[in-house]
Amino acid sequence: MPKQHLKGLDRDELTAFMVGLGEQPFRAKQLFRWMYGRAAQDFDEITDFAKPLRQRLQEAAALATLTLETQQISQRRDAEKYLFRLADGLHVESVLMRDGAPGRPNRHTLCISSQVGCPVDCKFCATGLMGLLRNLRPGEIVDQVLMVKRLSGSPVTNVVVMGMGEPLLNYDALLKACYLLADDEGPNLAQRRLVISTSGLVPKIERFTQEGHKFRLAISLNATTDEVRNQIMPINRKYPIAALLQAAREYTRQAKQRITFEYILLDGVNDSPADAERLKNLTRPIPCKINLIPYNPIAEPHAVAGGDSLLAFRRPSFERIEAFLAAVRTGPNTVTLRWSKGDDIDAACGQLWTKAQKPIRAEKKGIVI
Ligand code: SAH
Ligand code: SF4
Repeated sequence: MPKQHLKGLDRDELTAFMVGLGEQPFRAKQLFRWMYGRAAQDFDEITDFAKPLRQRLQEAAALATLTLETQQISQRRDAEKYLFRLADGLHVESVLMRDGAPGRPNRHTLCISSQVGCPVDCKFCATGLMGLLRNLRPGEIVDQVLMVKRLSGSPVTNVVVMGMGEPLLNYDALLKACYLLADDEGPNLAQRRLVISTSGLVPKIERFTQEGHKFRLAISLNATTDEVRNQIMPINRKYPIAALLQAAREYTRQAKQRITFEYILLDGVNDSPADAERLKNLTRPIPCKINLIPYNPIAEPHAVAGGDSLLAFRRPSFERIEAFLAAVRTGPNTVTLRWSKGDDIDAACGQLWTKAQKPIRAEKKGIVI
């Protein structure tokens, strides 16, 4: 009989499983705390259980969902990239960033993946060039946090779902994982310290707004006209900028939270003074933070994709970036410039793709929403 995967099950599901084994429901509570709160990866670690129970669990079920394949540390030691193998041999990446910014000396932010690859096909993104291989299961999403805590020995104080994949295309699994991460008998992450970043699936943003939780939302805006956004993010043809901003505004109103807009800076594509002006004006009515991300080169996929002039992006000059930043800063909302950490180990925004999964599955690309 195939083993039951326990990671990703909620309290009720774990109780049903333990009762099915002939155990008392309180055993499920213990298991929940060991699995999510103490990050146990093997039943033998669960010292509250006597040996015979651990053995029965060993035979019937599995705790681990990820195996560490490689761990890379950036030269500045401010980012660590973890490559994990899933049970079916596919791979995902997670990146831990140690943030020593003034006022927040001990922030450890983990960037996690929600899918293997991504079907949304943004032209500047390495993950997009892979296409979608599959959705991650709730346990595989949660386990990235549990594994990195164990392997790094550091706390994880913040989680951003900004790794591989479009999280809102894996909505149910993602939300289940988020609630498990926020559980006070589990990793106990405050809901407002978990940010989900989307390329802009309007109906899913509307659903997210209705949920009544405090998980936060970021939108990858990346352009100020539909013409440019259509080209670099084909999803814009389905959900154009006006509809997206309307959904963003409604989120801030109903959830009573600020939203974050991410804006990648691509030389000569979306970084003109007119773009800065439009960005400022488009976001003016929305309580938000604007996060500018200078483009990170994605060398290898360029070579593979080849021939498409749109893919020949460049990072703007330092002067151009500073000018854009200064112009947007004259607006009412907070603007930050994010120099991605870990670019020397391909761990920066947009650089996550796994060589283990070559060849790129072009036929799997395209918007499947
Ligand atoms: N799919 C989600 C979350 C993952 S992408 C989304 O698109 O929001 C996380 C962020 O990385 C997005 O804001 C995206 O615009 C940005 N990004 C993608 N490729 C990049 C690159 N090559 N350089 C810099 N940022 C990039
Ligand atoms: Fe997918 Fe986000 Fe990359 Fe776009 S930027 S292809 S949505 S991971």
